This record gives sequence, C-alpha cells and structure tokens, in this order.
Amino acid sequence: MRLGVSLFVSPSILSRMLSVTFLGTSAARPTVERNVSAMSLVREGETLLFECGEGTQRQMMRYGVSFALSEIFFTHFHADHFLGVIGLIRTLGLQMRTEPMRLYGPKGAKKLLTQALQLGVERVPFEVEIVEVKPGEVLREAYDICVFDTEHGGGSVGYALREHERPGRFDPDKARAAGVPEGHLWGKLQRGETVELADGRKVSAEGIVGPKRPGRLVVFTGDTRPCAAVVDAAQGADLLIHEATFGEEEKERAKETGHSTAREAAQVALAAKARRLVLSHVSARYSISAEELVKEARDVFKETVVAKDGMTIEVPFPD
Ligand SMILES: [Zn+2]
Ligand SMILES: [Zn+2]
Repeated sequence: MRLGVSLFVSPSILSRMLSVTFLGTSAARPTVERNVSAMSLVREGETLLFECGEGTQRQMMRYGVSFALSEIFFTHFHADHFLGVIGLIRTLGLQMRTEPMRLYGPKGAKKLLTQALQLGVERVPFEVEIVEVKPGEVLREAYDICVFDTEHGGGSVGYALREHERPGRFDPDKARAAGVPEGHLWGKLQRGETVELADGRKVSAEGIVGPKRPGRLVVFTGDTRPCAAVVDAAQGADLLIHEATFGEEEKERAKETGHSTAREAAQVALAAKARRLVLSHVSARYSISAEELVKEARDVFKETVVAKDGMTIEVPFPD
C-alpha cells in the first residue's frame, strides 16, 4: 500500500520521509501475534534499529526492513530486548558483509554484548564496535540522537531522534517584488544570506524567507516507569513510542516491575504535549487489538494507537 501511495509523491518529498516499523511489540515473551521488542526507523533512506529481541531478523525479512543498516540502539539488556542480535550478526556474516556495525547501549553494553556475540558467532567478517552511552549524550551529526534516562531498575536509557531546524519558507513573489532575479541569488536568500543586486542595492533574507521551522522529533522509551526524564525528552514530540506493558488493573504490578500502564504512558504524552502516542511492549495477557489499553490511554490522550508487529507509521513535518 505504501508503494502505491509513494508513486504519486515527488522524489524530494520521498527523500525526506521518516517512518518507523514495529518488528516486535510484546513484553517479555513472544506470542503468536507479537514478537519481542524491536523497531526500525527509516529516515531519508537510512535504516536504524532500536532493540533486537529474539527473532528480529526474521521479522525484518517479513516486513521488508533492510539488512543494510549500520547501527543498533539498545535501551537495556533484558533478554527480550537484545538476544536477536546474535542471530542477526551471524546472518550478516554469512552474507559476507564487510561494513562495520555499531551497537549502542547503556553501561554494561561492552561486556554483555561482547559475551553475547562470542556465544553463537564463530567469526564475524566485519567489525562490530560497541559504544556505551550515557543520559545527556547526543549522537550523530546530520540530526541528533539524544540519550535520556529512563526508570527501569537502573541503568536503562531511551533515545530521541531530533532533527535540526529547517530554513524558513522562501517566498518567490516577495523575492521578485524586491527586484531579486531568479537564479543563484535566490539560493543565497534561502540560506538566510543578504544579497547584492546589479545596481548595488542590498536585499536581506528577512521578510522574504520565513522563520526557521522545527524538524521532527521521534522518541523511543524502551522499558520504563512514567518519569520526568521521558516527559522532558518528549517535549513537543511528533511521535512518542512509550511502553505500556499493563492496564490499570495491573497498576501495582507495573510499579513493582519497572513498567508503565497505558494510562500512565498517556499521561506522559499529555505532559510532554506530544502529537501522537504509540503504545508498545504489551503484555501477552492482552489480545492483539489490546482495546482496553487503547481505551484507557485515549481517555487521557486522544491521539493514541497500540503498535502491532508490521505496523508502519509515517512521521510528516508538522507544517
Ligand atoms: Zn522488556
Ligand atoms: Zn526490561
């Protein structure tokens, strides 16, 4: 269906697309309908993977997620979030991959992932670099991946992908009215520079180019209690992917096990003034539609859906 839609979209819009695909949406153990945690994010043709629960490689094949990825981000090291990396790295090795792979995770990542990879992989024909990250750290250059603190029994983190501000909207009519001829001077104005015309007059971008426009913000919490650090990281998020392991009837259990209820996730989305909320990491006790979780959350925050394996969500620019 996405391809059909895409045919009518211009290449420049396609290249700016941002989407997430849920590869595993179950908490703790897989069910027939839901695999354990993993989510891919595709931005401008680049694929990133968040978590890699057991069986993720098969979910990637099933839902058409590229194996040509170079980075996997882990929020913590409970088995349902990382065991799949052993099989995935092994398959990539069998495919004679040569490009390096980088694995990010909180403190302990180096020891644990090194051990895990030695377990099932005889020899990896490409370099695997393991990077330990701390809350407050910002990764990447073309955009930011901000690492933030979560509350899941110590040492867990979440990730927020924040795009840089975009230049303001260029108004060709105003440029013409100011006497700036179409051509390279328009490009300069678009970049916010002042241009000099043939008659010596100087024209600044002000008034011709609108105010800078925000980029997109996608926030992935991993397992967590509802907490202030997530609310901060998700301020104005275009998409907040928050765990919702339980419903309200298991409120106490959520507290004891370091998880959130659907309602609590919705309260975080509301406090953060997020645009949309996706609930994931759903306990095996709920049906695939998880209606009770959706209802509880929507009572607090209307723009809520529950993730399903294979679900893709596009994240457009707000304007
Ligand atoms: Zn989990
Ligand atoms: Zn966990």
